[in-house]
Amino acid sequence: MHGASLHLYNSLTRSLEAFAPLDPEAGVRVYSCGPTVYNYAHLGNLRAYVFTDTLSRVLTWKGYALTHVINITDVGHLTSDADAGDDKMEAAARSQAKSIWDIAAHYTAAFKANIADLNIREPSRWSVATDHIGEMLDFAKKIAPQHCYELDTGLYFDSTTVPDYGKLAGSQDDARESRIEAVDGKRHPQDFAIWRKSPPGEQRQMEWDSPWGKGAPGWHLECSVMSHKYLVEPFGGGQFDIHTGGIDHREIHHPNEIAQNQAFCGCADTGAHFWLHNNFLVDRQGKMSKSKGGFTTLQSLIDAGVHPLAYRLLCLQAHYRSELEFSAENLAAALTRLKRLVMTVAALKAKAGGEGTAPEPWIKRLDEALSDDLNTPKALPILDELLAEKALSPADRLAALAAFDAVLGLNLLTLTRDELRLRPAAATLSPQDIDARLGERKEARLVKDFQRSDTIRDELVAAGVDVMDGDPLGWDWKPAL
Ligand code: AMP
Ligand code: ZN
Repeated sequence: MHGASLHLYNSLTRSLEAFAPLDPEAGVRVYSCGPTVYNYAHLGNLRAYVFTDTLSRVLTWKGYALTHVINITDVGHLTSDADAGDDKMEAAARSQAKSIWDIAAHYTAAFKANIADLNIREPSRWSVATDHIGEMLDFAKKIAPQHCYELDTGLYFDSTTVPDYGKLAGSQDDARESRIEAVDGKRHPQDFAIWRKSPPGEQRQMEWDSPWGKGAPGWHLECSVMSHKYLVEPFGGGQFDIHTGGIDHREIHHPNEIAQNQAFCGCADTGAHFWLHNNFLVDRQGKMSKSKGGFTTLQSLIDAGVHPLAYRLLCLQAHYRSELEFSAENLAAALTRLKRLVMTVAALKAKAGGEGTAPEPWIKRLDEALSDDLNTPKALPILDELLAEKALSPADRLAALAAFDAVLGLNLLTLTRDELRLRPAAATLSPQDIDARLGERKEARLVKDFQRSDTIRDELVAAGVDVMDGDPLGWDWKPAL
């Protein structure tokens, strides 16, 4: 166990708190709100999972046994945070003329491919919402008599029946209020649906029988039910350790989960000891979101010739609680930094004959940075310093690098220069063609035929390849972003 005491920022208390597992025998139990699989994850969504992966890697590295659950939301998430409007899954199925199950399978597979590309470790369990309808009904039946009321549109949770409703969200500002649409008959604006009845005469692709009529569960219900089933019940009750999600969940989704958890236990416990939230990835137009369209997927970066771990590095360069601006320039800079790291490691490998030993002071510095609320932007410059530390043998530097790799997940010990050099999907030239054209250009320059050299460069640019004369890393071309 690495010695520094782990401090995490708990949104419940809005403060840094020393972390220790509730039940050391049980290890650490973490639940992360997962993707709604009605579309491809955008880069913002993926930032949320780079964050949970950092958390999970740090916990493991520090010696804790970990049970990590991520859910797959394939029912119930409406097109707005309101209780009115369409189910995102139903709407996507309609517009793509496919069954909801095909939509869910397709986007779940795409999400898992993104996870693998980003070197995000698989959780102990992916739990799929529609596999838990029975448990959701049992949960709803248990809390309904004291906490819910029925309307024509569904079964609603009365938010005044639990202590401190919405405490996690902080002050109930106007922005939050305005995101909750009015539903006829709701007792309080912040009340929310536990069960949504299918409108009379309308058949939904996803609907189940319930004591309140045919319909589907509300989105918040699934997370209370699945976190309880996998992280509380098997451990004899109480709370689990850490619940994560994007900062948008701090306003509505998580307060509603907490209300349900309190109703279920008949106590003031929120369900989780720590509630952690990552901030947004933004672009110049504001927060990235799937519903705005025009989002950027990880695959679109890969197709442009950018290695996905460059995006991971971009995420790690910012603290998870800070906003992070996404731009082509920031991404290109992260890619350059990754190339530099990979080449430095290659040079060390060439010099290191045999195994080294990780020097303790460097491991301690890494431990201290990460124990400070997972401060990856503080850990990265320590890594740069380590790799450049001439007082250490190359083998010892590589041994210490293994610890950085374990928590940062950048695969620096194995990633090669060739792997980093992805060919843009739209490129009309193969890497061999590019090398051949660059060779011709070099010859032209040697004989001072600058006109020919410029023509070749223009042809390459037209084919999506930027020529990099005099690149200090010796990288002669890169994809045009
Ligand atoms: P969703 O698929 O919409 O349910 O979202 C999956 C996760 O991504 C949730 O934890 C969201 O809070 C998070 N999220 C959504 N948009 C962003 C963004 N622009 N930046 C960071 N996280 C986000
Ligand atoms: Zn959730």
